Amino acid sequence: MPYILTRKLRELEPYQPISGEYEVRLDANESFLPMPQDELAKACSTIESNRYPDAYAGEVIEKFAQLFELDPACITAGNGSDELISILCACFLESGDSILTFAPDFSMYAFYGSLYEVNVHVMEKDADLQIDVDAVVSYVKRNAIKAVLFSNPCNPTSLGLTRDKVLRMLEALQEENALMILDEAYMDFWDQSLLDCISEYDNLIILKTCSKAIGLAAVRLGFAVTNPTLTTALRAAKSPYNVNAVTQAIGASALSDTSNIRNRIDRIIASRDALYKAISPLCEKSSIIERLYDTVTNFVFIKTPKAKEIWQALLDRSIAVRCMGDYLRITCGTEEENDRLLTSFEAVIKDMEG
Ligand SMILES: *Cc1c(COP(=O)(O)O)cnc(C)c1O
Repeated sequence: MPYILTRKLRELEPYQPISGEYEVRLDANESFLPMPQDELAKACSTIESNRYPDAYAGEVIEKFAQLFELDPACITAGNGSDELISILCACFLESGDSILTFAPDFSMYAFYGSLYEVNVHVMEKDADLQIDVDAVVSYVKRNAIKAVLFSNPCNPTSLGLTRDKVLRMLEALQEENALMILDEAYMDFWDQSLLDCISEYDNLIILKTCSKAIGLAAVRLGFAVTNPTLTTALRAAKSPYNVNAVTQAIGASALSDTSNIRNRIDRIIASRDALYKAISPLCEKSSIIERLYDTVTNFVFIKTPKAKEIWQALLDRSIAVRCMGDYLRITCGTEEENDRLLTSFEAVIKDMEG
């Protein structure tokens, strides 16, 4: 008899990153500013390869805490925030519990939820792709939801939910004894963070990543920020050496350079603004583009029934963007990359209009 996989594995839809080589990569929301090679090498020069790393990534947590003015006792480091989402779903929920996430939103919440046999409820966002806080609160009450997971600002919509609205949801969730897992992966590009509220709530966990604004996607480093009680539980639940020594060394070096980080974020925001400003008139006058959304992230989000065709035509020109159903998500790049994207985008949509 052949070995039979569990149903959840048979039904699993693996995350499919783009494969192949493309000259312009605007598909994964990465930073276009890599850490210089000599800084990478220098950061790694003191690593003792035969020794296990610091199990609690003390130095890198210290630097992250200084950067965001947090108490290190509120921070857990992870092998990317993806690992932290996995641990949270595995340990803060029990099989059969219900969680709520949204569509469209980051797909990994539902992915890990179903992997750990949690009932994943997905609420469709409204016509403007925003979260309706009142609808969320009543849904949570009616369905005994144990945790609400979402990204703010949102990947992929590029939109943000203001701080007062998130706080209103958080307070309602607290009354229902439900957790809020708030993914602030893109909050470095906006100013509505709830990081300063961490100690005031017993049900708030904020996720941060070094993969976007900090430019360390290759290094895999993320953080969960929550009150000391939940932090103790999370640290106990993670695997002992989840953040390797190379990541800790590079992360500590990158995070300690505060003025450099500010400068990089400003450059990314300037690139995002330039991309938005240039693509906006192209979208407006095109009969095949339905909508360009506002953006508080490092990418733009476009609704078009021709998303798949445009995506393929751009790939044919060696430009990778992300296609999601009737939407395109385009990360801002260097000036050169933006220019190439814009020239090709204009030509491709003109072509399709006939
Ligand atoms: C990119 C992204 C992450 C992934 O972060 P890693 O630290 O690279 O695992 C998490 N959440 C959202 C919303 C993202 O877009």
